[in-house]
Amino acid sequence: MLIKKIGEFGLINRISSKFSCSRHGVIVGIGDDCAILPPPKRRFQIATTDMLIEDVHFRLRTATPFQIGWKSLVASISDISAMGGEPTFAFISIGLPKTATVELVDGIYEGIKEASRIYSIDIVGGDTVSSPQVVINITLLGETDEYVLRSGAKPGDAILVTGDVGGASAGLEILEQGLPLEDTRKHLMPVPRLQEGKLLAKSGFLSAMIDISDGLASEIYHICEQSKTGAQIYKQLIPLSDNVLDVSKMTGKDPYSFALYGGEDYELLLTCDADKIEQLTHLFSASFNTRLTYIGKLTDDVGVITLEDENGTCVPIARQGYNHFSE
Ligand code: ADP
Ligand code: MG
Repeated sequence: MLIKKIGEFGLINRISSKFSCSRHGVIVGIGDDCAILPPPKRRFQIATTDMLIEDVHFRLRTATPFQIGWKSLVASISDISAMGGEPTFAFISIGLPKTATVELVDGIYEGIKEASRIYSIDIVGGDTVSSPQVVINITLLGETDEYVLRSGAKPGDAILVTGDVGGASAGLEILEQGLPLEDTRKHLMPVPRLQEGKLLAKSGFLSAMIDISDGLASEIYHICEQSKTGAQIYKQLIPLSDNVLDVSKMTGKDPYSFALYGGEDYELLLTCDADKIEQLTHLFSASFNTRLTYIGKLTDDVGVITLEDENGTCVPIARQGYNHFSE
């Protein structure tokens, strides 16, 4: 059924009927001019917003509506995780072509609903407009007692990364090239490191943290820029996702390019005092099965980021990654 059959208000009613329960004591949710939210329970309120556009961030041809909805909310949860916070309320705005079907919207909202259920988020409002392409904008609020910025790191600090990297862009390559490989999970259904981010921030050991949305290289540049440092990364220590080697064998592409320049892994990249690596990894592995891997260190060579291979040869890492306005 086409959305024009039920119109804007029919669509909003359909969406709001999916989200009734309140986990965080919402006073007024979807339905009025504004949402009314209870005062925060924790010291700081945090907020993030992300916009996703059809054929820039997702393709209706290669992802299901459910996967698109899931990933849209997960991208924002990942930002909250990178501050060490926990998500609370979300506003979902959606732009839809007049030719869109109700099934498409239902699917997107089912994906959003599933992520909101698992990560305990209340959907409290949004906007619905017509657009030449599908557009999804999510504003996610969160709370935290302690936070970690990108700017607190210093030369000598260790750089660590959760989980594994490169898997999302290797998954994208499988879909875009139609490769006969299966593992597209990290691209289509990423998992945010929410509990991990909270524990890491609470540990008090971190000097900086960022989530990997645009690739390891780009995120290391962000930390170095904001903390006024350089960095040296040890290539053989980078934890590549399982599908990366298969995809690189099939395409001839450098496996490390997926990890460094691919993006959308939604892992956490963090720094801590070099003396604290052991305590931090110990604390982490006592709570999670996820890996926490040391991959390099910050240097006082401001703005210079190098990759050292197993022979000790250093090459500069390009300031590349997904950039919306570059050629
Ligand atoms: P307004 O005219 O004030 O913009 P709307 O008619 O757009 O109000 O929205 C009515 C209610 O439905 C509001 O509470 C709004 O937050 C909510 N809403 C509208 N679109 C969406 C959406 N796509 N997802 C969630 N809530 C929505
Ligand atoms: Mg509106």
